[in-house]
Amino acid sequence: MHALRLLADRDLRLTELPDPPPPAPGEAQIAVRAIALNHIDVWGWRGMAFARRSLPLTVGAEAVAEVVALGEGVAGLRPGQRVVPYGGMTCGTCRACREGRDNLCENVAGVRGFHADGFAQGLMNMPARLLVPVPEGVALEDAACAAITFGTVQHMLFDNARLEPGETVLVHAAGSGIGSAAVRMAKAIGCTVIGTVGDEMKAAKARALGVDHVVNYNTDRFESVARRVTGKRGVDVVFEHVGAATWQGSLLSLRMGGRLVTCGSTSGVSAETNLMMLFQRQLRITGSFGCSLRNIGESLAKMSQGIRPVLDTVLPLERFAEGLARLESRNVFGKIVVTL
Ligand SMILES: [Zn+2]
Repeated sequence: MHALRLLADRDLRLTELPDPPPPAPGEAQIAVRAIALNHIDVWGWRGMAFARRSLPLTVGAEAVAEVVALGEGVAGLRPGQRVVPYGGMTCGTCRACREGRDNLCENVAGVRGFHADGFAQGLMNMPARLLVPVPEGVALEDAACAAITFGTVQHMLFDNARLEPGETVLVHAAGSGIGSAAVRMAKAIGCTVIGTVGDEMKAAKARALGVDHVVNYNTDRFESVARRVTGKRGVDVVFEHVGAATWQGSLLSLRMGGRLVTCGSTSGVSAETNLMMLFQRQLRITGSFGCSLRNIGESLAKMSQGIRPVLDTVLPLERFAEGLARLESRNVFGKIVVTL
């Protein structure tokens, strides 16, 4: 089988590897069909220092696949079925896993495609418990964006920020993979969306996507817009993943008792927080990372109802590195998906 392996920083090679053995009890063998790219892939590719990994490493952290064979004792799946594999190598037995809070597993062994071999290979064996069936009618390229992109946003907006219909939400980097997903999910329940973008081309695309108030953060202050469009009250929810560059403005954008949820810090990991504002205005700040298996199912259900990811580009596996370079350059609106 083919596998796309990272040999050294920025050195990806299509390699021939032996097929995996038949699936063990409790496992399914899957044939990977498509992979969505995320910033975690860019970090791994350009070699930011992370302790727990060794090269060569098969890349690919978010995927959709088809069941090829089932090991003993696997129920509820059949060969030919399309599934979304969970990328976290969770234990399945700790309290968090048993209670369905998979992304809080106490014994997680890493993330596939980052700490351990990922999905950019023809065949692989997975614990069947980590496979989520794809509903009929959902396109492969869309389903490829369920495990990280849609799952993360579903977890952030609904489990963590408890976004309600009709609320106002500020979405940073509305043209990014998760930003565009957040816009679509928030608009789908009738929220008012303020979205930030970095240039006029993305501003036009954000408007077309349904963002009610588009802010070019290079020419306008988003916190002023947030206060203006809410009659000085402030927004109910801020969807953060930019970090240092936007942190203080994000907190200033919130209404009394507003909620900020963050899953990233692409502009820097440290920022000052005005604690007096935090407690007097009774703000709630929640960190969010990944999602649960349930969130993947919810994401796929949304896709089957027509809430689809925004696709920027679909590329063949050989052009994976080109996709990473495009993502790194930020000259992208929505998701880059690679097909096998
Ligand atoms: Zn666990």
